[in-house]
Amino acid sequence: MADRVTIVGQPTKMHAIGEAWVVELPRFGPEGTHFHTYGLLTPYFKALVEGKLVGTRCTNRACPVSQGRGELWLPPRADCPDCHRPMVWGEVTDPSGYIYAYTYVERGGTGLEIECPYYQIDVKIEGVCTIVKSYLADRTPIAIGDRVRARFRTGEDATHTALDLYFELVR
Ligand SMILES: [Zn+2]
Repeated sequence: MADRVTIVGQPTKMHAIGEAWVVELPRFGPEGTHFHTYGLLTPYFKALVEGKLVGTRCTNRACPVSQGRGELWLPPRADCPDCHRPMVWGEVTDPSGYIYAYTYVERGGTGLEIECPYYQIDVKIEGVCTIVKSYLADRTPIAIGDRVRARFRTGEDATHTALDLYFELVR
């Protein structure tokens, strides 16, 4: 078994409706193709393909939680969950952090595009107020607190899905 996880899904097709990306995901063959629009969250998926991690933050000074000084949310939200006002985009300048929790996945569900076994990880990133759920490229044993950095599937490797973000161990 390879020491790094690979993606085993079928290639996706992309098109745009206005500013929004729509992905065609042939998860269960031609008759089982899923169509997803990314809508207002399209900038997140465009950034992944460019090797960048972006999120949204609340800048509404009247917000009962952020008071206009919100940290980034990942995955992003178009509107603030606390005050329901539109959020603004910002880049994660240092997309690295530590493993907050993890699950070792030996058998995935039907349609899973990640080759098992792999670590599904929850990552705490400085400046991000949410815990980011992703997967780890490495298969070596890990522990909570291990440092990780974001990596991206770009160019020909891009899936145009959330799988374009993953992490690797910092040793
Ligand atoms: Zn808010």
